[in-house]
Amino acid sequence: MQKKEQLYEGKAKKVFATENPDYVIVSYKDDATAFNGLKKGTITGKGVINNKMSNLMMAMLEKKGIPTHLVEQIDDRNTVVKKVSIVPLEVIIRNVAAGSFSKRYGVPEGTAFASPTIEFSYKNDDLGDPLINDYHALALNLASEQEIETIKKMAFAVNDAMKEFFRRLNIDLIDFKLEFGRFKGQIVLADEISPDTCRFWEAGSWDTEKHVSLDKDRFRRDLGGVEDAYQEVFKRLTGE
Ligand code: UDP
Repeated sequence: MQKKEQLYEGKAKKVFATENPDYVIVSYKDDATAFNGLKKGTITGKGVINNKMSNLMMAMLEKKGIPTHLVEQIDDRNTVVKKVSIVPLEVIIRNVAAGSFSKRYGVPEGTAFASPTIEFSYKNDDLGDPLINDYHALALNLASEQEIETIKKMAFAVNDAMKEFFRRLNIDLIDFKLEFGRFKGQIVLADEISPDTCRFWEAGSWDTEKHVSLDKDRFRRDLGGVEDAYQEVFKRLTGE
């Protein structure tokens, strides 16, 4: 499938039209941003890893019955996906306290939860993606009640599948962000699943102060070894 005009350029990806109006091509960049775009940088090779890894995860989830936007990978950085209309909610699932949860509620990072949590942020860069609840999302017409129910069910199913999947790779899935889209009336998992959007900690390291991050926190927090961490996750996933 051929790339036609560019439709959109985001922080980490570009989106191109194709000859099929139902499909677009997503092109993954090495650009990295954090803190709502305040911190900018490059993570060499990230685009290739995130493209391939996200496609592996989506394919694994499809096998478990979770509908996704994935159509087919074209090459190292480019993938054909369904042209969805994105539900403007960032859906965050957490298994262990970290990041903004720890700050907001004064809970030390690495505190395990009895059961996973879900939260929504309103996808709006000008407002800094504020936390919102179901009722706010309904009031603002961001999604229907039925869509919100579907999104919650799918997000927890993704968590079950991914937790199990990464446990085998000696990686603890701490938390992650998902985005969903509408395609021909159906809610499908969209965007990406990668070290940009998940917290991955070296297995068993989360109950100590010195957890080992294998994700974008190495960039956000200037921990060094950013490229190596992405590479390490990819290696465990594929053996490459
Ligand atoms: N996350 C993301 N995009 C965002 C915000 C968060 O992919 O714009 C992911 C992040 O990588 C982490 C999870 O969502 O895996 C929870 O992030 P948190 O709310 O703790 O925010 P942060 O501490 O990253 O600001």
